Amino acid sequence: VHRAFTAALFALAACSSPTPPVPASTPPPAPKSDPLSAAELMSHVRALTDPRLEGRAAASEGERAATTYVADRARAMGLAPTEQAVRYKTGSHNLYARIEGTNKDELVVIGAHLDHLGRRDGALYPGADDNASGVALVLGIAATLADRRSELGRSVLVVWFGAEEPGMIGSQQFVAEPPVPLANIAVMVNIDMIGRPLLDQPLYRAAMGFLGVDAVKSVGLVGARHYPGLRALADAAFTASDGEIVAAEDLPDDIGDEVERQSRGRGDSVPFEEKGIPGLFFGDGESTDYHQPTDTIDKLTPSLLERRARTLVRVVIDLSRAPKSAFSRSDAIPPKRKPVPHSTYGPERDH
Ligand SMILES: [Zn+2]
Repeated sequence: VHRAFTAALFALAACSSPTPPVPASTPPPAPKSDPLSAAELMSHVRALTDPRLEGRAAASEGERAATTYVADRARAMGLAPTEQAVRYKTGSHNLYARIEGTNKDELVVIGAHLDHLGRRDGALYPGADDNASGVALVLGIAATLADRRSELGRSVLVVWFGAEEPGMIGSQQFVAEPPVPLANIAVMVNIDMIGRPLLDQPLYRAAMGFLGVDAVKSVGLVGARHYPGLRALADAAFTASDGEIVAAEDLPDDIGDEVERQSRGRGDSVPFEEKGIPGLFFGDGESTDYHQPTDTIDKLTPSLLERRARTLVRVVIDLSRAPKSAFSRSDAIPPKRKPVPHSTYGPERDH
């Protein structure tokens, strides 16, 4: 609204005369697009997997362009993104922004890595699921929380990490030279590969069917094994949105061990965990196209990305408001998931 027009409205209001009718010619405000819609999230994935970004290899111009893209979007949300230079080859970057809740000291961190594998032997690795999907989801969550700050207890720090693929260089440097006191971080939520059905490869599809897991409605979670309070909080959010969490510790040992092997020591939550901060790593696990040039945008399920994004907003808000006791560690062994009787799951569903 034009400043003079606003001033005129205030002047009119101050006169306490009857409210003037809104002139018929005033156009309605443009509807704000929903940052969690599938279309909006996929537009970020499309930008990040643009061939001009050359697969976003750590310390490449493509990774730099991805960082700039995210910083521009964050500023458009009214956030003040800050760069942290990451020492890797010619230079990589972490990017972080703070969204204040009522608790200005304690923080919930949510992050996703920006980089991927670049080009190898001439082949471009677009990394649509790994991890353009996660970067997009964290952008959607940041935009949503920027508008819903009043619902936050602890403040939220959103972070996009550089140089994850060469060995979590960005997140390691983030905890080695933290821009906020590590003691203030209640939990770190890592989003890495989040736009495909869970464990999207034939071998696992059969195993998930045996266990009665709906690969589309469920999401993988690593890191909650010793945090029953955090697991219960995340379970509640996913169940409320007709979803489900599947963690390695829920699975029978043979499958669970393989999932553990895939995730052990990997992901940007690990450096935080090494500092004693609980980490919750949400993702869809390894698909057939994991670290292949075929990890392309057409393999993602946009509605799934949207559904998980909406649920994870709930998770982050709930984490921001959870009592301290929800973050305490336990060494009790969680119960395992039981196979469902064969007759109840029937033929593989066609998604
Ligand atoms: Zn990744």
